[in-house]
Amino acid sequence: MIENSILNNNNSFLINALSCMADGVIVVDVNGKIMFLNSAAEEITGWLSKEAKNENFNTIFPLINISTGEKIRSPIDNVIKLGKSVGLTKNSGLITKDNRKKYISANSSPIKDDYGNFIGVVVVFRDITRIRSIELELINKEIELRKAKEQAEAASKAKSEFLANMSHEIRTPLNGLVGMVDLTLLTDLNCEQKENLMTAKSCANSLLKVINDILDFSKLEAGKLVIENINFDIKNLIEEIIRANSSTAVAKEIELNYTFSSTIPQFLIGDPNRLRQVLNNLISNAIKFTEHGEISLKVKNIETIDEHVKLEFSVTDTGIGISEENINTIFESFSQVDSSSTRTVGGTGLGLAISRQLTKIMGGNLLVKSKFGQGSSFYFILKFPVGKEVKKIIKQPFKINKTTKKLNILLVEDDKLNQQVIERMLKERAYFVDIANNGSEAIKMYENKKYDVILMDIQMPVMNGIEATKIIREKEIENHTPIIAITAYALKGDKEKFLSKGMDDYIPKPVKMDKLFNVIESHTTGSKEENLKNFNIRFGENGEIEFFNDESRILNKEKPIIMKKLLYSIEELNKALQKKQLSSIERLANKIKSLSDEINIYELKDISFKIELSARRGDLNEAVYYAKKVSEEFEILKKSILDI
Ligand code: ADP
Repeated sequence: MIENSILNNNNSFLINALSCMADGVIVVDVNGKIMFLNSAAEEITGWLSKEAKNENFNTIFPLINISTGEKIRSPIDNVIKLGKSVGLTKNSGLITKDNRKKYISANSSPIKDDYGNFIGVVVVFRDITRIRSIELELINKEIELRKAKEQAEAASKAKSEFLANMSHEIRTPLNGLVGMVDLTLLTDLNCEQKENLMTAKSCANSLLKVINDILDFSKLEAGKLVIENINFDIKNLIEEIIRANSSTAVAKEIELNYTFSSTIPQFLIGDPNRLRQVLNNLISNAIKFTEHGEISLKVKNIETIDEHVKLEFSVTDTGIGISEENINTIFESFSQVDSSSTRTVGGTGLGLAISRQLTKIMGGNLLVKSKFGQGSSFYFILKFPVGKEVKKIIKQPFKINKTTKKLNILLVEDDKLNQQVIERMLKERAYFVDIANNGSEAIKMYENKKYDVILMDIQMPVMNGIEATKIIREKEIENHTPIIAITAYALKGDKEKFLSKGMDDYIPKPVKMDKLFNVIESHTTGSKEENLKNFNIRFGENGEIEFFNDESRILNKEKPIIMKKLLYSIEELNKALQKKQLSSIERLANKIKSLSDEINIYELKDISFKIELSARRGDLNEAVYYAKKVSEEFEILKKSILDI
């Protein structure tokens, strides 16, 4: 029928048009028998029209899904069945005469005669193998890229988490170690023991420095290090840096000096701490690698433009120098010229890598000139906006006012450490102190000497504080000696209990300096000295006892508010634990951590951080375990701060 109506109708115009089409055209009759292939179809399929003619379409042109290899239902059958046009899916292809697979896009439509009778199917198709393979290549690349990105992100997240965990896990015990060394230094020690402990402390401090370096470096690598822009006093900063490094220079008999252009404005805007870090590192390297001569830090004003200054910083030494072959590698991370295990100086090989990165993010670049055997000069240029004069906050040097009233105090305490700490505090205030190790010793001493105040521990071997107080009161004839109880946890009702036992007042342990002086003075001079600050005790690098004032401790009146918030968060945490909601557990633990930090409750901060980590790891059991500890710690905390 078709032959009659179209192809045999001598309609050469239409035949020519079909032959010239760029798309392949195949015409079949209602039985699927091939009637015609145009030239493009011959080219795509490899079949000549005359070879294919009268063959069944489905036998000659098997269609498959190229990605799965499965056969596709013939579009001819579909058109015949549905009576309308059908297309092919994306991955469809045909197998050519010479057995090649080609992706095609095709549309098959019914052919109807003038009366609407269905007389055949026309398939119009094109070879899309090239486009499709490019498309597939792109899709594969994108998948690969996405996978690689996901892997990199997961690795980087794991790394930062690891570092965060490690820094906490390493720093906490290290700080504890330094603290314990400080406390032990408070006890009776001979010179050798004291020296050993000072060495242990300096080792722990070096370890802390290494850890901080590694953390800084990984933060820089992750692009997470933020540079501050604050007003600072540049001259003061340089002087502080010189002062801080001078003792190591003096110890090596090296001269350390500095020059500072007089045209540099006093106040600049930038990051003083990062600048200090870079200069400290350069100076300590210079000291490390110099045996004779001098080290000089120069700060030169090289340009002043529109409220900005360009400064060149340089640290020059007369040390061992760096050979040409090594000069380029020293800025690489973990690189050291002498990496042998026998080298005499320590270091991580990170200092210069960190310093260069820091100068870069501050807008400069750390460079070096050096002559092997003669010395090195490290230098960089930074541009700073000129700052405004800031009112200097004058840091009061630590000073405890000595009292004018010299009191004789008897300290009754069995614990050696507490004896030392309290004695040290009392002597700092210029009191005279005698020590009794228990109640019975106290009574003997009381009988032999007149004391203005007795500080009495409660629980002691041989004779406790309550018993001793009772006896002293019985022996008292005229003068009443104030007896102040020192107790571990101050519980509600304790005060009344001690007062009823003949004591005059009490001080909770651990003893705070301000509280100690206030209580003593309220029972002796009649008027309390106001504004006494509390100072904590630690040991300096050279073993001297230092009192330090923890300014960050919040005002007492804020404490109850934070305690309430803490209580609420702990209750919420316990609910979240019961419901096993890991993300809420993590969030609440983090909240508890920040609240504890605000009031410097390190124990609670430490445990809540562990809960946070367990939740992040999905370890519910561990979270439950630490949550119990949080509740316990909070109870202790509540009791111990009742009277603060
Ligand atoms: P490290 O912590 O090992 O000192 P740095 O990155 O600070 O690491 O220094 C890398 C190396 O560069 C050092 O180990 C040393 O070999 C060399 N170097 C650094 N500063 C100097 C200097 N002033 N003189 C000679 N060599 C130096």
